[in-house]
Amino acid sequence: MYFKHLTCCPVCKSKQIRFFTSEYQTTKKLFELLKINYKKSKWSHCSKCSHVFLNPVFNNIISNKLYGNESLYRIYSIGERKIDEYLLEIDSNLYDMKQHKSPRNDLMIRALKKYKKHFKNKPIKFLDFGAGFGAQENFAKSHNLIYQGVEIDKWCLQQAERLGRNVTSPENLKSSEKYEIVHSWQVFEHISDPNYGIQESLKYLKSNGLYILNVPTFLITPFNNWDWGGIKALNWGHYHSYSIKSLSYLCTKYSIKIIDFYYSNGDINIIGIYSPNEKVDNKIFSKITYTFLFNKLNLYIHIITGICLSSVKFLVRFIKKITNLRKSIN
Ligand SMILES: [Zn+2]
Repeated sequence: MYFKHLTCCPVCKSKQIRFFTSEYQTTKKLFELLKINYKKSKWSHCSKCSHVFLNPVFNNIISNKLYGNESLYRIYSIGERKIDEYLLEIDSNLYDMKQHKSPRNDLMIRALKKYKKHFKNKPIKFLDFGAGFGAQENFAKSHNLIYQGVEIDKWCLQQAERLGRNVTSPENLKSSEKYEIVHSWQVFEHISDPNYGIQESLKYLKSNGLYILNVPTFLITPFNNWDWGGIKALNWGHYHSYSIKSLSYLCTKYSIKIIDFYYSNGDINIIGIYSPNEKVDNKIFSKITYTFLFNKLNLYIHIITGICLSSVKFLVRFIKKITNLRKSIN
């Protein structure tokens, strides 16, 4: 009664989908908060665009509990931590405007470098789509971007207000207002219909504007994503695990020319230009084929590398503890 089964891929609508995997890290606490008896989420694979997605998905009753007034997803994410500890983990610029090293700042710096000439020193309006509590505001300000965040989660809106951040709900945002940059970080895995999400976000982007997107993926590459990040992201709090192929499908459909992409920390990062007046094909990416077997093999290798890396990390922590203990005894 809490779930609905999908019969087609949420990205390309193909009916060629099949069961791919169950999750490897259970979100037991989330089910306890929701007071429902469920164990592991299940994930399907689309043969046409290689997208991996939650199936069955939760229905609107659960969705409202997670992201509505109760904000159960936020309570689950915060866990045992103090609120400021949680906020600081998301926003390294919570208390200052320094250029901290963080994956989200790295993506912004890379995108701004690529696109700097394009803006020709004009004021740059920056829309943070799914802004949370405005985690990108201080960074944006330190780069002279005019920041506006938009968010639906009530808890995040309250925190943004408390922190004095410029974040509002979609009803308060004028669709006639256009921005030079639209950015989203860890948002599209939470949107059940990515086609709807991308259309909503593009309503605010100027033609030839910059589109910056970060989403989790279970995929690994020879150089990236070996730890548990992407595997952990296959959890019941998410709807999607994207591949460059499924992202390229969406970008092509909605006229975003991909000018850069890279994998890092269990995520895919895309930098694109919104080109509604041109024929966009993103051929280099759309031609890539990830078969079901390739993705399955990738998943198994990822699990093995994840286990090895966490064992090494555990050992390092253990040795450090023993060394510190010996030092304190001596
Ligand atoms: Zn598909």
